[in-house]
Amino acid sequence: MCGVFGISNNKNASELTYLGLYALQHRGQESAGIVSCDESKFYSKIGQGEVQEVFDRESLSKLVGINAIGHVRYSTYGTSELKNAQPIIVKCSKGILALAHNGNIVNARYLRNKLESQGAIFQTNTDSEVILHLIAHSKEKNLLESIRKVFYKVKGSYSLLLMTPTTIYAIRDPYGFRPLVLGKLSRSYIITSETCALDIIEAEFCREINPGEILEIKNGNIKSYNLINKNFDFKVDERLCIFEYIYFSRPDSILKNNSVHRIRQELGKYLYKELPTSADLVIPVPDSAISAALGYSSISGIPFDTGFIRNHYVGRTFIQPKQRIRDFSAKIKYNTVKDVIKNKRIIVVDDSIVRGTTSKKLIKMLRCSGAKEIHLRITSSPIISSCIYGIDTPTKKELIAYNYKVNEIKNFLNVDSLHYLSIDGMVAATQIKKSCLCLACFNKNYPVK
Ligand code: AMP
Repeated sequence: MCGVFGISNNKNASELTYLGLYALQHRGQESAGIVSCDESKFYSKIGQGEVQEVFDRESLSKLVGINAIGHVRYSTYGTSELKNAQPIIVKCSKGILALAHNGNIVNARYLRNKLESQGAIFQTNTDSEVILHLIAHSKEKNLLESIRKVFYKVKGSYSLLLMTPTTIYAIRDPYGFRPLVLGKLSRSYIITSETCALDIIEAEFCREINPGEILEIKNGNIKSYNLINKNFDFKVDERLCIFEYIYFSRPDSILKNNSVHRIRQELGKYLYKELPTSADLVIPVPDSAISAALGYSSISGIPFDTGFIRNHYVGRTFIQPKQRIRDFSAKIKYNTVKDVIKNKRIIVVDDSIVRGTTSKKLIKMLRCSGAKEIHLRITSSPIISSCIYGIDTPTKKELIAYNYKVNEIKNFLNVDSLHYLSIDGMVAATQIKKSCLCLACFNKNYPVK
């Protein structure tokens, strides 16, 4: 769970990166960083916290140069501390390099042990640093060839940016688990995790980076290469993470030519189609389920209303890694609009149930506010397995749907009915071929073991 942004050939590179990171803040709130480059030297500002806490006018003004890359982080591998914040900068046999990575390297532990046994000294405990060590160790003189060689060994998900003093490389794994898009602003190219980061700087969306593509951006020109060639012959097998649609991406982003908002509306419509239910109101759990509840309301004819108010000055519940903080913020995050709820039969739409803590609390609040009936509708299937490709899901033992059947969850949450969207319903709503999606957290079918 991270966001990346890079821009080349722009005299305001660091300011634009800062704005891009603002738009990507939902992808990670633990740390933020920008590295800029003026063709010989790197300048950096990296800190713990949200974008607005890390940068100010003065620190940004020191990030000179026409190229920059930036990162917002939420850790799925490695601890939450400053030394693990990105971009990571290293000086190595290939010169000075900066790396910003979204994804999760599944064989990082194995690769790290191997590198350490050869004498490598790691500065961080992130999976991303492994990539830089492998590049540094590579005997290839040509950086492009060493990138190919390294990513032949590295398994898992990566949508990443690698900056040298003259060039930015954008690299997306052969499965395309995490999004990565190309945009243009006058004579500058931009690579970023989501299109909402292009909108904020009024850049035009060009296309997605293809799974298994390396894009080289230098002096305002781009060249596309395949990660794979005759020496490094592995397969491109697209598997976009469906959870990007369900929860993670911003609804105003475009993912595979479809607005995330539209797809979420479709998810809501499929929920009604699978189990039509009569009720007085449809209410979303804000913010992630608003689009889906609108879709549910439009197809069912049941009025949409605002039953929960979310306090926007509290971070996302789940996003804080410590259980203690998560519970605390869940409590202060939502309140009900009692006037809307009282004596009503309510459809509550949410995107997912992970541990069940949030739903349990919200349902209790609705009961206390006088709801007559509560029908909980979830736009994803039961999450029965952890994500190993960069979405923060807890270990499977903590997943409520791993431990209990739907009927038991219904009783635990104290709702009148509970329906999770089927896997086929989710897939149909995305309008993407099932074989091109990663559904591992729902069906345990892990594309990379
Ligand atoms: P839980 O209380 O553990 O069941 O969390 C479920 C709530 O967390 C839902 O309302 C989701 O919107 C939200 N959520 C689901 N997945 C994630 C995630 N990976 N990171 C942050 N929040 C999430």
